[in-house]
Amino acid sequence: MPLTDADAVSSLTRNGRSVNQRPPALHRCEVRQVADILREARGCRFCGLDQTVWIFLLAHGGGLALLLCTDTDLSLRVSGALSGKGSAIVSDVAVTVTCLSAIAAQCLLFFRLYRSDPGWVRIGCLPEGPAGQQCGYCSAVPPERSRHDFNTGQCVAKFDHFCPIIATAVGDCNHCMFWLYCVLQSFLILWGLALALDALLPCLLGDSVSKAVCWGPRAWQSWLHVLAVLLLVPCLNVFGGLAIAHAYLAATAQTTYEVVKGAKVPYLQEHYRAYAGPRGFPCSAKGVRSLLWHLMRGPLPPAPYSRGIAENLNVFFYAAKPHSYWQQNNGMSDKL
Ligand SMILES: [Zn+2]
Repeated sequence: MPLTDADAVSSLTRNGRSVNQRPPALHRCEVRQVADILREARGCRFCGLDQTVWIFLLAHGGGLALLLCTDTDLSLRVSGALSGKGSAIVSDVAVTVTCLSAIAAQCLLFFRLYRSDPGWVRIGCLPEGPAGQQCGYCSAVPPERSRHDFNTGQCVAKFDHFCPIIATAVGDCNHCMFWLYCVLQSFLILWGLALALDALLPCLLGDSVSKAVCWGPRAWQSWLHVLAVLLLVPCLNVFGGLAIAHAYLAATAQTTYEVVKGAKVPYLQEHYRAYAGPRGFPCSAKGVRSLLWHLMRGPLPPAPYSRGIAENLNVFFYAAKPHSYWQQNNGMSDKL
């Protein structure tokens, strides 16, 4: 049952905010812009943009400026392409165009993702497939595998996680785009790391003349390259790890929420209870502990929604999603 106003005031969320401070949920299938839903959840804004966009722009703009304003292979090739001189002009132009295209594609992907609909469950609509229990927070009747997202105050179909990098939830409708974003970001980081190391290694392992040049009048450039390497290595771990982990989730038709929570997820409890692998699965062990337990002692239970790797990937990448989750339910919607 939906919470009453009195319940809403007295209850506390996990974040310590009262329920009535949450962003409002969608009502009666009304069409609202995703940007409107997220504006209140994203909070701090400066010059019309919130901090997530600023972090993205500053990180990418700063990284590109660092590589272009110091002596790197990229800056040499870009200056070669712009001047039209040099023996390797074709490859210089190719590298310059590739670099700009990759960054433009990443910006486009970021803003598409930033404004994307992860699969908001409209209140007053019923899912076409199996329905989950009515949400006690926003009163939506979501499809199975949905979860209420406390950051945006909405239920999200096939909820994966709330991603602070893009300041929105990742769900069925934008999971594929999120994976592409992680992959492209990993390649960009790897590229930047290779350029920084290419400029830095002669300064560390080169002959005495190279070291004297690097750590003499151009020492500031060398220190910037050291800083770039120190920042890019952990970033590569994060995005590379996300790309690999979500490729696994896509191939096995699972979500981060389901993997992390394990037998604790309400709609998976029956499946876990029924599973009796080679050594049985302990339903008492939950979350990460259950994962670790089984990684050490035996195989995990098969993902209940998996239909084989090929079909899972087909659903993840190509299948049309939003309209398969909800439809206008004339008459019924007024009673919810
Ligand atoms: Zn909800």
